[in-house]
Amino acid sequence: MQKVSFFKSIHVKLVLIYVLLIIIALQIIGIYFSKQLETNLKTNFQDSIRQRIELVHYSVREEMLKSRDETSSPSLEVSLKMILQGIATEDINKINVVDNRNRIIATSDTNDQALVGQRINEKIIRQAMSSETIWDTVSLDRDTGLRVWILAVPVMDNVGPAGELKGVIYVQSNIEKVYEQLNEVNRIFAAGIAVSLAITIILGILVARTITRPISDMRKQAQAMSKGNYARKVRVYGTDEIGQLAIAFNHLTNRLQEAQSTTEAERRKLASVLSNMTDGVIATDRKGKIILINDPALELLHDSRETTLNRPIASVLGLDQEYSFEDLIHMKDPVNLDFSMNDTPYMLRANFSVIQKETGFVNGLITVLHDITEQEKIDMERREFVANVSHELRTPLTTMRSYLEALAEGAWKDENIAPTFLNVTQTETERMIRLVNDLLQLSKMDSQEYELNLEFVEFNKFFTQIIDRFEMSKSQNVEFIRLLPEKSYFVDIDTDKLTQVIDNIISNALKYSPDGGNIRFGFTVHDNMLRVMVSDDGMGIPKENVSRIFDRFYRVDRARARSMGGTGLGLAIAREMIEAHGGKIWAESEEGQGTTIFFTLPYELDEAGDWE
Ligand code: ADP
Repeated sequence: MQKVSFFKSIHVKLVLIYVLLIIIALQIIGIYFSKQLETNLKTNFQDSIRQRIELVHYSVREEMLKSRDETSSPSLEVSLKMILQGIATEDINKINVVDNRNRIIATSDTNDQALVGQRINEKIIRQAMSSETIWDTVSLDRDTGLRVWILAVPVMDNVGPAGELKGVIYVQSNIEKVYEQLNEVNRIFAAGIAVSLAITIILGILVARTITRPISDMRKQAQAMSKGNYARKVRVYGTDEIGQLAIAFNHLTNRLQEAQSTTEAERRKLASVLSNMTDGVIATDRKGKIILINDPALELLHDSRETTLNRPIASVLGLDQEYSFEDLIHMKDPVNLDFSMNDTPYMLRANFSVIQKETGFVNGLITVLHDITEQEKIDMERREFVANVSHELRTPLTTMRSYLEALAEGAWKDENIAPTFLNVTQTETERMIRLVNDLLQLSKMDSQEYELNLEFVEFNKFFTQIIDRFEMSKSQNVEFIRLLPEKSYFVDIDTDKLTQVIDNIISNALKYSPDGGNIRFGFTVHDNMLRVMVSDDGMGIPKENVSRIFDRFYRVDRARARSMGGTGLGLAIAREMIEAHGGKIWAESEEGQGTTIFFTLPYELDEAGDWE
């Protein structure tokens, strides 16, 4: 947050306002007061001068109007001089009496009696003479530079308009004293202003502090809150409005902290849900750029967060050729994304939902990804299975129909053909029964409706009995080679089921063995498991098909296998059974060299071992 500069702070503003208010108030009071005082002092001064001059005027007029003979009475100048000397005071600098011809006939200035008889040329005297009224003015004394009040009083021989001007009394009084007094008062006043300003500033600072301190406290608190620190509290200084604000602020902090922790908990919950769910979730902004992608989504897309974030969703999902972001927003149905490579199927299903405001404004898009590879594979296998079953059943049925038709059309009468034809239909019927039985068995295994009837048997003996049975009944010129260990190994097995497995493996080996070939039987021990092996010198299986021979209905050479009476389900059943016993089955083969079928079974060393 920006720091408030000193001069812009409320603190300084408040103090400045106080000071300005006080200055303005005192100025107004001061101006009014000093004007009033000046007027009063001046009036008093002038009144007192006027009163005294009135007396002087009376005496001067008397003297001027007096008729005198030359010998007995003193001259006018002498008389006037005596009058003027009598009234000279501190206030009055000088009094001159001027006759009507502008000549000074007397002066109160004892040091300057030489003035008497000189002409005077003062504007105010001329004005008083011409108007025959009293004139006054304030001017600066030329010698001292001090202010003086000059008064010109005309002396008339008669009162009223008929009077004749005899002369003018010119009075110069020391009004500077009044101004000095005024200045003194103003100085006292200024000192008072200075003191009151100082007090105002101090008080202003204190008052402003009581307001600004809680405010700056709240500012600091808000700053701390923006950094996630809710532990701080604002100090409440009082119960006034600011105190109430501080209380409200603290309350707000608590509420905010609660809300923050709730949001945080929700966020954590959501994050944990997002990362622990198996489905991938991708969220975009309103322009379709990815803003959130959870770990499962990254795994499903085989991508990294760095390369996907901020990229358009359509391009990340590989849909940019077919759909725009606008299309995805309006997409109601899920879209299948096919990422299959060569033989490896990989399919995802994307469901889209739009994040919309109440106003209908689109805020973003949520995409949920789901791996549907398995489901698709199962669907495909099911379809393939149904097609296979239908095909497997149709072939013998068509064969039987054509033979039965031939028989019906008269072949039954032919003693040479009829038995052969009946024989064929019988073989085909048996094959169909075998097929249906195999299918039933597989279906039971799929729905796990069967139980293993486990028996504890010595594997060497069990395996030897089956090999013996085949050796005795075999019609081909094939040699059986037994590579069985001396030591007894015991297994916990369902003997019927395992017999069926081994029967199937041996009959396959016999089926595909050439005349004069060998079939080797043996078992070894690996990783606590018996590893059983049946190996032939037959035609072998092409490398790329070896793993597929355990798939349902898979046959390397369909026509040949069928002609040998196989259903294509034998090894598939064998795999289910071995896995039910906790083992594994696989094949190794070299085309033209021979095939070896391996399977494993958990074993116990020998029966006696348990008791030792
Ligand atoms: P089938 O009833 O056709 O024998 P299986 O499930 O037993 O069905 O075998 C599947 C296919 O595996 C056979 O059709 C055959 O092509 C191949 N196969 C199995 N065993 C051998 C073997 N020992 N030598 C060569 N091919 C074999």
